[in-house]
Amino acid sequence: MKIDFYGVRGSIPAPGLNTVKYGGNTSCVHVKLNKGQNIILDAGTGIRSLGGKLINTDDPIFLLVSHSHWDHMQGYPFFLPIYQREREIYVCPSEQTIHDQLCSLLDQMDGAHFPVEAKELPSRTECVVENVEPELRRHGINITRKPLNHPGSGSAYKITENGVSCAYVTDNELDPPDKIHTTYDEWVAFCANTDILIHDAQYIEADMPQKHGWGHSLISQVRQLALDAEIKTLILFHHDPDRTDAQLTEIQQETESFFKSKKADIKVHCAWEGLSLRV
Ligand SMILES: [Zn+2]
Ligand SMILES: [Zn+2]
Repeated sequence: MKIDFYGVRGSIPAPGLNTVKYGGNTSCVHVKLNKGQNIILDAGTGIRSLGGKLINTDDPIFLLVSHSHWDHMQGYPFFLPIYQREREIYVCPSEQTIHDQLCSLLDQMDGAHFPVEAKELPSRTECVVENVEPELRRHGINITRKPLNHPGSGSAYKITENGVSCAYVTDNELDPPDKIHTTYDEWVAFCANTDILIHDAQYIEADMPQKHGWGHSLISQVRQLALDAEIKTLILFHHDPDRTDAQLTEIQQETESFFKSKKADIKVHCAWEGLSLRV
């Protein structure tokens, strides 16, 4: 599979002179399977430029949503394929605990928050809310999900093709102070031996204890998870909007040194817009 990053920032878009290198768009990752299926993980503002590429193709699009916070759905009305006549788009919302909307991506297109209403879209957009795994399997896509430790919860995804796997775990607190939806040991099992682990890495030690319980992980905890789960490549993702390019480069170097000191053969990338991996 091929994995391309279009939005890597957390919480709110953060354009500006300090985020030029890693990018300021919010969460969006494109996974292209070898068999040709287009999977999109989240519809943050990064999805706008991805849409500009996908309108030149006509394959179905499968959009898996981690949860409905703004930074994961805000780009959807600007995703050009939804305006293509008869384009097949399957939207899979996460399993969440605190809202009763069927599909926030479409619900936000209500005429008040955006001028075009979802019912006017010419594409064939389908919201898949039940039997998500078997429904995707019917289209040749193998995924498993796990509940996030995040306010309102949400879903992590693991995509597998021909023994190769990519786990997408963003907006997840590995050590939450309150209700635990998925324990640390369960995360280790979920991520075990994955080729690519994309994990929330929003906080550093200086953010604590103020932000304990906000639903994001410490980079040090994510490094430990990568070791314990024996993954091959770690992608630090969902960067804090205040984290500068210089700080992220430092985090990249520290993480490389950490794995080296543990004699672990784990590659690491602080995610940046334009990062492209083939696995
Ligand atoms: Zn987020
Ligand atoms: Zn969130």
